[in-house]
Amino acid sequence: MSIFSFPSFDKHEHVSFKEDAATGLKAIIAIHNTNLGPALGGCRMYPYQNDHLALDDVLRLSKGMTYKSALAGLPLGGGKAVIIGNPHTDKNRKLLLAMGDFIDNLGGSYITAEDSGTCAEDLKTIRERTNYVSGVSDGRKHNGDPSPHTAYGVYCGIIASLMHKRGAGSLKGIRIALQGAGSVGRHLIELLINNGATVFTSDVNKSNLDKASALGAVIVDNNTIIAMDVDVFVPCAMGGVINDDTVDIVRAEIIAGAANNQLVDSSHGERLKDRGILYAPDFVINAGGIIDVHYQRIGGSSEESEAHTKRIGSVLGDIFKRAELENKTTTSVAETIAEEIYLDKNLIPQLDDVA
Ligand code: NAD
Repeated sequence: MSIFSFPSFDKHEHVSFKEDAATGLKAIIAIHNTNLGPALGGCRMYPYQNDHLALDDVLRLSKGMTYKSALAGLPLGGGKAVIIGNPHTDKNRKLLLAMGDFIDNLGGSYITAEDSGTCAEDLKTIRERTNYVSGVSDGRKHNGDPSPHTAYGVYCGIIASLMHKRGAGSLKGIRIALQGAGSVGRHLIELLINNGATVFTSDVNKSNLDKASALGAVIVDNNTIIAMDVDVFVPCAMGGVINDDTVDIVRAEIIAGAANNQLVDSSHGERLKDRGILYAPDFVINAGGIIDVHYQRIGGSSEESEAHTKRIGSVLGDIFKRAELENKTTTSVAETIAEEIYLDKNLIPQLDDVA
């Protein structure tokens, strides 16, 4: 199949392939759009079963970054990199240095960051060969880890969702079911409990559950958390959590969480809308991480990053209102607004515009 006929190709500006026999590096970098700025997106390492799956993944993720950065009001485009290989057995210093050379050859049109299968240490190695790396520890409070900022953005998004649905954003007396008490989940549990919510949580990792329990969360069964009678369901574990089997059993009136790709496809967004469940699109509500990566890159402070992240609430509020007005799903409205922004960069919201 020609790359141009891949459904996920969708007007990508540039796609580069690298196979390096000396180091075993096999990688693809996809740049979807650079209208707003250089394409920033993580470098994923995964043992894809074949090259087509790797290409499809990198193209889909790269386009997603264009939408995420546009809606986050960042001067960045969308891109992504994948290294085809097992991060536990195939990753080594020479391979990462070769990846650094590959990124450097693109002259800054793509800037890399951490993703699944790569960590801050790997980025430091890559940075030995290229400056086009973000999210490496810079000695700031959170040591380069974007998770606390992602959690804060989701927190702002939950408040905005409550405001839209109930006309009040207070967390007092609000019951929340949060799936996945990992890096983002734990920071979020702390924020939610400190602000008056009752948080129920589940995970497949016992030590993460112990940490969540120490923060005051109530531990519940992971198989039934999605159907709990709560106000807000907060997916912070894996993608695809809203699917044919689960879309009709959710009882919360709001779904607002950090996990990427929560809806398996657009039909699940339609079904949530028909059931009167407000869905905060994942690529809008979980942008705190990319916002923080941006501020790290330009040498901004944690406070600047937090102030910018706060606007996720008002962006979501606008999406919710427009979706209601146009009788569309929140995801389709978010995609339309992202396109309006990146296809006409004069529309990029400035931080000063945001109260
Ligand atoms: P993490 O790996 O630290 O935490 C994920 C948690 O989910 C872990 O505790 C894991 O045990 C648990 N989990 C995995 N599978 C599960 C399952 N089937 N059922 C219940 N729990 C399960 O990851 P994270 O950094 O906290 O990210 C959480 C989600 O948010 C991911 O989908 C990630 O892609 C997304 N996200 C994270 C960031 C960030 O800044 N870290 C930014 C944007 C989006």
